[in-house]
Amino acid sequence: SEELLIRSEKMSVSGQLASGVVHEIRNPLTSIKGFIELLQAGIDRKEEYFKIMIEEIEKIEKLSTELLYVSRPLTQDHSYQWLKQMIEDVIVLLNTQAMKKGINIILDCPQDVVVYADKSQIKQVFINLIKNAIEAMTESGNIYIKVQVSGEFSLISVIDEGPGIPKHLIHQVKEPFFTTKKEGTGLGLMITTSIIENHNGIFSIIPNQGKGTTFSIKLPHYDSAMIDS
Ligand code: ADP
Ligand code: MG
Repeated sequence: SEELLIRSEKMSVSGQLASGVVHEIRNPLTSIKGFIELLQAGIDRKEEYFKIMIEEIEKIEKLSTELLYVSRPLTQDHSYQWLKQMIEDVIVLLNTQAMKKGINIILDCPQDVVVYADKSQIKQVFINLIKNAIEAMTESGNIYIKVQVSGEFSLISVIDEGPGIPKHLIHQVKEPFFTTKKEGTGLGLMITTSIIENHNGIFSIIPNQGKGTTFSIKLPHYDSAMIDS
């Protein structure tokens, strides 16, 4: 049945994830163990080794935090929410980081768009996308978040002015642990995809003509009467 099919798809994702996690955790652990052995042998480059060991431990910490979000879709807490308010909350969170790089985050969203959503999950989606946009942009510029209502859906676009994603990588970037960053976990877009799908939405990546990338989210939208104020 369809349900079985969906379940088996989910299992293959978690299987893929599990083997990835093992790999991503084993590497820093092996490295930490190696440095401890060197320290035991009485090597005197302690400062340098401690620094590397802390970096490796931080990799595992970061991975653990992001993995929490992967498992979260299992416990959903949906309610009717103003979309604009949720996006604004995330912008407040990331604005300092953006301003440091001379990046403006520009939101264009009608007041009355309502989605039925797990607030913390949808916020996580915007955190992932805006963070990626900030990280991608090496020069100052703008990140645009545009929301339009079209029929039964809200169409949300997150557009950056970074170097863009090469066409041949568009599908790969959503896979767990695919990253081109030194400090990346490669989980952000995979988590984003699974959260949007859990909200009966569609997440897609559109390479822009010229520079930049557009991340597009389609979510069912509801009448504002659903929210009692
Ligand atoms: P991470 O950010 O940890 O690398 P993500 O899943 O969030 O993991 O992103 C995976 C990869 O997709 C990134 O390493 C980068 O190569 C690419 N990517 C994501 N967002 C953008 C963007 N806005 N512009 C260019 N490349 C991007
Ligand atoms: Mg990311």
